[in-house]
Parts: sequence; structure tokens; C-alpha cells
Amino acid sequence: MIKRPEEIALMAAAGKLLASVFAHLDQLDLAGMTTMQVNDLVDRFIVDELHSRPASKGQYGYAYALNASRNNVVCHGVPSPEDVLQSGDIVNFDITLEKDGYIADSSKTYLVGDVSTLARRLVQVTYEAMWKGIKAVRPGARLGDVGHAIEQHANRHGYTVVRDYCGHGIGREMHELPQVLHWGKPRTGLVLREGMVFTIEPMINQGDDEVDTLDDGWTVVTCDGKLSAQFEHTVAVTANGVRVLTLRPGEKPLN
Ligand code: MN
Repeated sequence: MIKRPEEIALMAAAGKLLASVFAHLDQLDLAGMTTMQVNDLVDRFIVDELHSRPASKGQYGYAYALNASRNNVVCHGVPSPEDVLQSGDIVNFDITLEKDGYIADSSKTYLVGDVSTLARRLVQVTYEAMWKGIKAVRPGARLGDVGHAIEQHANRHGYTVVRDYCGHGIGREMHELPQVLHWGKPRTGLVLREGMVFTIEPMINQGDDEVDTLDDGWTVVTCDGKLSAQFEHTVAVTANGVRVLTLRPGEKPLN
């Protein structure tokens, strides 16, 4: 699970390229676009502009460069030419990028047009929860500390943490060890060491934490139909803390 400094440098390079994909997405007016249009744009940007590979294409038989998870979709939403983004939606784009054999993984929930105060609050608290988890990462801390920080922040705001999906180690493979749960007890679980690289990607629900997979075998939705939001970064444990490899241009770590 420990990566050498040269490997982390390559992962940081992949992470920086992936961050630029989100900077590109930030400039779009998403209202009226289909999720397939966003997928195609991201695919072309990664291949033609960044000379990299969308790592999700071909992984587990998946055909697309991103997952588009809108409103009550928790994760793994499949882009579609029939899925038109509308003002008031929240939509998560989850993107992986491979460069020189190493993969970075990140996601962001976007507000489309005029979004309700309640939906905005869910998205904001989810973003904060991801940072609570990131801030708990340092050598000697344990994965339970990370999960606890996330869960505590979500619960304090009346939300629940999805338990069926988790963060993961990452490197040459998209999914490596360890599993990173977004809930847990302090002082339990794996002890973090310098050189570990993994994702932190909490999915936070407005209602209860129960989820279901649709017949397409991919799309995961909330059982109660309420909203779900997610943010994700790829992080490395450093000698005295954490380095966010997918930090976006202008993005400031939250305390
Ligand atoms: Mn991930």
C-alpha cells in the first residue's frame, strides 16, 4: 500500500491534469446540456488536450469517461442523451484519468442554474464532510478517525452517510487497498503511513442511507427518492500530514 516518492510524483501529475478537467467543466452552462454531451466533451478534453486516458472506459465493461449522478442518484449514474440537465438539479461528475500508468480519481457535485436552499445546503455540507475526512489524514492516524470525522459532520446536519460504497487505495489500478469507509470509530482501523494514496469520496444523503441499484446494473439511487451529493479527492499521506493530489485550481483546503 506504500508508494515511492517517484510514484506519488506521477500520481500528482495525473491529479493535476484531472483537476484541469474540472476547471474546464466549471466554465460550462450545464442547464440544457445532456449528460452524454458532458461525457463526450470530457472524453475529448482528456484525450485530445491532455493526451491522457479516461480510466473508467473499459473498466468493468463501462463505456464512458465519467459517471453523471443527478439528484436522487447516489453514484455510478450512466451518461445518456435523454438525460437533460435542468435548472434546479444537482449533478455529480465522477472522473478518472490515467497518465503514464497512474490513475487519479475525483468528483464534484455541480449546482445547475437556480438550486433550492435545501439542496445547496446538502451539497455544501457534503463538501465540508469530505474536507473533515481529508484533514484527519496524517501518519499515525487511523482510517476510523477519517470515517468518524465525515460521519459526525454529516449527522450533525441531519444527513446520513451511504455505507454501501467507499473510498479506495489507488495507483496503477483504479481500485486498490485499503477500503476507506466514510464512517467509523476514532482510534480504530488501519494505521496510516507515509506513502499511502487513496480516495476520500463521501456520498451524503438528505434522507436515510438506504440505496438500491437500478436494472441497468450501474445506477445507484436513494430508496426514499431524496437527494444525494458527493465530492471526491485523491490524497497521499505525507511525512507530517496530507497532500491532495487532485486539488483544483483556486480550491482552498477547508478546516
Ligand atoms: Mn473513487
